[in-house]
Amino acid sequence: MQNQATPNATAPRLPTTSWEIHLAARPTGAPTATNFALVERALPELTEGRILVRNTWMSVDPYMRGRMDDRPSYLPPFELGAALEGSALGTVIASRVAEIPVGTMVSHFAGWREYAVLDAAAATPIDPDVADAHHYLGALGTTGLTAYAALTDVAPVRPGDTVFISAAAGAVGSVAGQIAKALGAARVIGSAGGPVKTELLLQEFGYDAAIDYRAGDVAGQLAAAAPEGIDVYLDSVGGEQLRVAVEAMRPKGRIALVGAISGYNGGTGAAGPDLYQAATKEVSLRGMLVTSYFPIFGEYIGKAAGWLADGTLRTRETVYEGLEQAPAAFLGVLSGANTGKMLVRLG
Ligand code: NAP
Repeated sequence: MQNQATPNATAPRLPTTSWEIHLAARPTGAPTATNFALVERALPELTEGRILVRNTWMSVDPYMRGRMDDRPSYLPPFELGAALEGSALGTVIASRVAEIPVGTMVSHFAGWREYAVLDAAAATPIDPDVADAHHYLGALGTTGLTAYAALTDVAPVRPGDTVFISAAAGAVGSVAGQIAKALGAARVIGSAGGPVKTELLLQEFGYDAAIDYRAGDVAGQLAAAAPEGIDVYLDSVGGEQLRVAVEAMRPKGRIALVGAISGYNGGTGAAGPDLYQAATKEVSLRGMLVTSYFPIFGEYIGKAAGWLADGTLRTRETVYEGLEQAPAAFLGVLSGANTGKMLVRLG
């Protein structure tokens, strides 16, 4: 009996090699294009229990900067001279797994390459009828789940709250502002870099007030936007914005420590928060990893798909075209070249 991986006279030839982006050198400070290399490699054999996927979309994410360094963290460092990895979507083009036939769309973690041979357990079929596929890397992916978990569990929003969100025009932040509103926040304030992004916060992402952190005096801008203080802060940035948020916190306020991008490239950075103020105001600061919320992923996707369909959730994507543009997209997400989710479309 012929299985789907066996070429025949009419079937298109399957690829035997794949172009990949490798880590060519570890960066010192901000990465550059020289830290990456585009390399062609032979694909492993499609043995029983595996699928061959042609990647169609991949995600670039700020946390990947940490994996470029050779130091212990919650994920192992990327290997020098090997393909990077990260969230991606693709179409199965050959299969030796009965439950995942050719044509299935899957999400998986073997991004940064054209093709991937994957064990069945490493791929999750996605339903393209629920929403456009790329949303599974954004609002319906770990991006959206991060925002949701931060505002429902880590620093829960209560009806009537004033909520502050940094990196608000980015992937997590653009979704988070709208989720905060859906959870009953009375006033949602976002910060972003530059007037184009702050305008977008107001016009597109449902924010009530916007702060341009690059214009300076973040404390003064936040005081003007929230004269009575804030109840919840979703921190993606660390440094000065975290310090200012602690100062603006009302008693028993809640802070979700989601990221600290202002320090990802090293350097001394701005002074951190005054934790004695946090103590005397009984403010909670709680870290989070989205992986801890994977048990509620399915439930979240159902909810967020409804929000996308009924217009509660509006999204933007910044799309770079082609695998060779993936390093530029990654450097861009670190420097603010994106609005909404930064994505790379492959082929
Ligand atoms: P993103 O917000 O789409 O992109 C990063 C944004 O950070 C840039 O667009 C830029 O926007 C801003 N930025 C860069 N340098 C900055 C600086 N020095 N000060 C202030 N803002 C700066 O990225 P994302 O994927 O949504 O991630 C947002 C944050 O959440 C990151 O810190 C990420 O590591 C974190 N995260 C954490 C988890 C978790 O499990 N804990 C999961 C996902 C994401 P501007 O143009 O506005 O500067």
